[in-house]
Amino acid sequence: MPELPEVQAHAERLTESFAGDALKRFVPITFTALKTAVPAPDAAYGTPLDDVGRRGKYLLLEFGPTTFVVHLMQGGRLLVDEKQSAKPRGGQARFLFADGRALLLTEAGTERRAGVWCVQTEGRLDAPPLDHLGPEADTIDAATLTVRFAEFPMRLHGFLRDQRAIAGIGRRLANEICHRARLSPFANTGKLGAEGAEAVLAAMRDAIAEGLAYERTRPDMSSSADRPGSVHKRTGEPCPVCGDAIREVAYSSYTVSYCPTCQTGGKVLADNTTSKFLK
Ligand SMILES: [Zn+2]
Repeated sequence: MPELPEVQAHAERLTESFAGDALKRFVPITFTALKTAVPAPDAAYGTPLDDVGRRGKYLLLEFGPTTFVVHLMQGGRLLVDEKQSAKPRGGQARFLFADGRALLLTEAGTERRAGVWCVQTEGRLDAPPLDHLGPEADTIDAATLTVRFAEFPMRLHGFLRDQRAIAGIGRRLANEICHRARLSPFANTGKLGAEGAEAVLAAMRDAIAEGLAYERTRPDMSSSADRPGSVHKRTGEPCPVCGDAIREVAYSSYTVSYCPTCQTGGKVLADNTTSKFLK
């Protein structure tokens, strides 16, 4: 799944190539692509694109008073549509521009969870689907993170992935941030306090900056295997910091990857709370 660095760099690329171009038409290709009824997309027709912004893992295509909020979910992409074919593979929706170009939202697989919300630009952060999001992971400060930890007492890995607690981080960065912070992914955020928040904040900023720097060198969004990192999907490989073998705890929809020496005092993690029910 694209996370904050991938979505941010993509927003910058889209702004660079499409800002100033007016929207001609928005065409949903599947029934589920457009998640809203009011305002209608035609409110934005004829209006130039101001820019493409980002909130959490959402792209915000701003056409004056109207914003299209796009969530790529797991396998979604919003790409320049060279062919503009009638039935594009995985096609969800299309933005047609006045100069003849188009952007196509596609989603790989059959989940059909990617989507577009058409909302009023004014107050857009306080309306669905953005209203539930926590502070941005790249700009939150230590004091706010300390408060969020107390408000959302849970495992650190789960906290980082929970968009209500903090926005923009996913499965991959959660692993990398815990490793950089030298904290167990199972550490309880309710007990981390201000010192823990400082460590997580520094790790988060570094991991995001590294991802963003890499992503900005690319012509398009990377696939997850290409992204820089030390532990995610590297089970059995040596930790680049200490040489210990990277270990994992696998769940049905994600994998916790960590280095025992760097993060758990050598302890091997087993999930006593859920693993026996999932198997
Ligand atoms: Zn290590």
